[in-house]
Amino acid sequence: MRTTGYAAYSPESPLALFQFERRTLRANDVAMEVLYSGVCHSDLHTARNDWGWSYYPIVPGHEIVGRVTAVGAQVSRYKVGDHVAVGCMVDSCMACDQCRNGEEQLCRAGNTGTYAGQDRITGENTQGGYSKHLVVREEFCLRVPEALDLAKVAPLLCAGITTYSPLRTWSVGPGSRVGIVGLGGLGHMAVKLAVGLGAEVTVMSRNAEKQSDALALGADRLLVSADPEAMLQAASGFDLIIDTVPVKHDLGPYLPLLDVDGTLVIVGQIGPMDESSTLPLLLGRRRIAGSPIGGIRETQEMLDFCAKKNILPDCEMIRMDQINEAFDRMEKADVRYRFVIDMASLPAQEP
Ligand code: NAP
Ligand code: ZN
Repeated sequence: MRTTGYAAYSPESPLALFQFERRTLRANDVAMEVLYSGVCHSDLHTARNDWGWSYYPIVPGHEIVGRVTAVGAQVSRYKVGDHVAVGCMVDSCMACDQCRNGEEQLCRAGNTGTYAGQDRITGENTQGGYSKHLVVREEFCLRVPEALDLAKVAPLLCAGITTYSPLRTWSVGPGSRVGIVGLGGLGHMAVKLAVGLGAEVTVMSRNAEKQSDALALGADRLLVSADPEAMLQAASGFDLIIDTVPVKHDLGPYLPLLDVDGTLVIVGQIGPMDESSTLPLLLGRRRIAGSPIGGIRETQEMLDFCAKKNILPDCEMIRMDQINEAFDRMEKADVRYRFVIDMASLPAQEP
């Protein structure tokens, strides 16, 4: 099927219109019209080839909400008209211990990215959700709970699950003391989800500008990471810190904030970190960990949790042709707190 999207054509050029083919439906495939696409900082990293694995043209977008338009012969879970969602993965081996355990994001053979991946059957490059249509293997579709506002669901598919997963892995609940570094797309979802799980939540931001936002999101306080005195006073006060900062930075100031056996989970930057001393790790039996997105089962659990607690991102709706401006603003942390593209604004496919 011929479809339309917005693609990066090189690391330097702005995203622009792109016509391409979506595969013919396989027996276990779901085809959808994309209704909304969230804008993740990973989309920007990928458009600019920050991680070195981009190809061009590349269509970003891995926070996707759509309406089913057709299903393959063997599809049993979805029917035409259903509202479905797709996140950062569209396939995995489904046979290894991790996949069988519902942790497809940790597939031993590597999961297939919604973009910047290769189709497991044809080897073709995958293309993401900044497009009119998408074709996805049934097992990688999520059901959107009816209670949720469809226009705001998309960011849950990456920002939501990427922060929900470490909160669950490290058993956050009432009484947990959680810190969130960086109040952006992931950060603000982390706050809402941690609050929803009953934790005491502190936002760690570069300055006090987002103080009132942090409190409105449900956090108990905002700690200014550039204020050494405030950081000193917060020492040993956290069980879990989730670090969403998208660029190379110093972990040193955050490690002493962890209590004994506390963990700093990196979900943001990929690549070399600034040098920091192992001293606080050894003396406090503290840990540094990382966490990639989350599995399909856990993603559905997160969607259902959000429906139950009425947790949704704070979104700014944009048109597809505003994407380059949105990227510029995201880079300046000028987004409160997630851009969502109304895909009805994308021109229809040309003959
Ligand atoms: P975002 O909306 O741009 O938010 C990032 C936040 O980090 C900003 O709001 C800002 O918060 C802080 N920040 C930005 N620039 C900074 C700098 N130079 N120094 C210190 N802090 C800075 O980005 P996002 O969409 O949340 O994504 C965050 C990162 O997570 C990206 O690198 C993305 O690729 C990654 N990610 C990882 C996964 C995963 O599976 N682990 C999934 C999705 C995304 P303050 O203004 O409050 O300081
Ligand atoms: Zn993402």
